[in-house]
Amino acid sequence: MIPEDHREIRSAVRELCAHFPAEYFRDIDEKRGYPQKFVDALTKAGWLAALIPEEYGGGGLTLTEASVIMEEINRCGGNSGACHGQMYNMGTLLRHGSSEQKQRYLPRIASGELRLQSMAVTEPTAGTDTTKIQTTAIRKGDRYIIKGQKVWTSRVQHSDLMILLARTTPLAQVPKKSDGMSIFLVDLREAIGKGLTVRPILNMVNHETNELFMENLEVPAENLIGEEGRGFRYILDGLNAERALIAAECIGDGYWFIDKVTKYVSQRVVFGRPTGQNQGVQFPIAKAYINIEAANLMRFKACALFDAHKPCGAEANMALHLAAESSWEAANACLQFHGGFGFAHDYDVERKFRETRLYQVAPISTNLILSYIGEHVLKMPRSF
Ligand SMILES: Cc1cc2nc3c(=O)[nH]c(=O)nc-3n(C[C@H](O)[C@H](O)[C@H](O)COP(=O)(O)OP(=O)(O)OC[C@H]3O[C@@H](n4cnc5c(N)ncnc54)[C@H](O)[C@@H]3O)c2cc1C
Repeated sequence: MIPEDHREIRSAVRELCAHFPAEYFRDIDEKRGYPQKFVDALTKAGWLAALIPEEYGGGGLTLTEASVIMEEINRCGGNSGACHGQMYNMGTLLRHGSSEQKQRYLPRIASGELRLQSMAVTEPTAGTDTTKIQTTAIRKGDRYIIKGQKVWTSRVQHSDLMILLARTTPLAQVPKKSDGMSIFLVDLREAIGKGLTVRPILNMVNHETNELFMENLEVPAENLIGEEGRGFRYILDGLNAERALIAAECIGDGYWFIDKVTKYVSQRVVFGRPTGQNQGVQFPIAKAYINIEAANLMRFKACALFDAHKPCGAEANMALHLAAESSWEAANACLQFHGGFGFAHDYDVERKFRETRLYQVAPISTNLILSYIGEHVLKMPRSF
């Protein structure tokens, strides 16, 4: 049954997803491929341009509506992780880019001609402690020369452009550790092989992600986004939207697991009755469902605040935490009550199980969300 809210978006996305059944994603997962046809269809239908204002050729939708798109993709058995960057990475450009940059890139991102699917922030040594990044960008005339290394930069092989965070002033010379970093729009078509080397990382999920090595990578100075030195703040500005959207993906996964397992346990007969007749089976599923519903309320609260231009850091973080935990709880119940079949590739449970596990670590570790709530919401002492 399609919920009443945002019915039109839900049915349109579902209709598109219906052309990409479980077999499609299963096959791609097995081959470790990329769901190009699916992403093309989403792009053509304009769903990935949902958050780009109409004046730049986008959908001009609210974050609430955009989150419904992400939720439905995952709820239908797909994985938004293959393309969610195209929806939200442009936010940095939209909020902080010059009008020339916006005119130049946004319409082509909206049409799908340019893919801005990648954002390179994480580094192998700094990890979650982003202010310690080692990648530097030094201005020389009309260019910046970039040196350093990134890790876990997703979708580079399916992007034309990438947002990169680098230090432009050494940590020792800035009053605040969050100062002195800048963001650049890197044209991957020019950079790869000319200062930028991409090394794919095979990982538990079929997710295209990479190590990046930058050795004297030259980026035109006009590709600096916003002011030099304020890049970390610009990244933070985009996080609330990203967290709310990813919470919606998790929630989509959560509903997928609940639908899948409730159907299965209602028809799987062991000891002469459906396994779902046992309360030992029913209760963990019911508990996961309750938690998904609660996460969903927080997700809609976060989106509504964002759409009303009100602060939503606490709500966006709490929504992601609740959603990541509850989709994982549902995944565990779904796997457990499928018994051996939960491990069979053909049932899709093990694939979705792997996919939803990621949300506890990326885009942000759940521990770091707890730390944010402890420090910024509950005003307890700062721990780092
Ligand atoms: C498949 C995948 C795709 C990704 N895509 C991208 C991408 O496109 N762009 C990008 O920039 N990054 C990306 N990432 C990186 C991701 O954001 C980081 O992996 C994540 O933020 C955790 O950082 P880390 O791996 O360096 O872990 P670390 O910082 O080493 O932390 C490891 C764990 O230690 C714990 N921990 C660390 N510090 C603390 C603390 N102070 N208090 C309590 N617990 C703590 C947490 O549980 C954390 O999970 C991706 C990661 C994966 C796995």
